[in-house]
Amino acid sequence: MPRTVASNDEPAARHDVNAIALRRDPLPRQTRRYRAEQYVWLLTADPPICREGRPIEVLQNCDRQRRNERCWCRLLVRDVADDLEQIGRGDLAEFLESGLEADDVSDVAGRLRSAATLAQGTDECDRLIAVSYDLERIADRGSGLTDRYSDDVDA
Ligand SMILES: [Zn+2]
Repeated sequence: MPRTVASNDEPAARHDVNAIALRRDPLPRQTRRYRAEQYVWLLTADPPICREGRPIEVLQNCDRQRRNERCWCRLLVRDVADDLEQIGRGDLAEFLESGLEADDVSDVAGRLRSAATLAQGTDECDRLIAVSYDLERIADRGSGLTDRYSDDVDA
């Protein structure tokens, strides 16, 4: 039997529209110290560490990603910035600049891990600690971070 447009369908439809409107109207952000949008979305190890070769080719054809593993060369800066904000350390995202030397990467790794350890027990903290180890691996290989290839590679 076909459903008629019963009168009690309408409030539900209106409710959905309202829900969408609410979702599109996020909490006021003026109190936030930063906006994730201000950061480059992706930094990559410079040079890449997943394997040797021309950086852009290594990044575009990552063996780890092909095996559904996490690429060691990619740092999703905005995700990290969001997690930092969630644990009240959005200020640390400022260290994730467009170009970092290996020493700086190591320094940032230490700062992230210290901050995340203090906020232990949250998903954000677990992700940040994982990121700190990724950064340390990059620094240990003598690589820095760059945004040079960010427009040319996928996440
Ligand atoms: Zn990779």
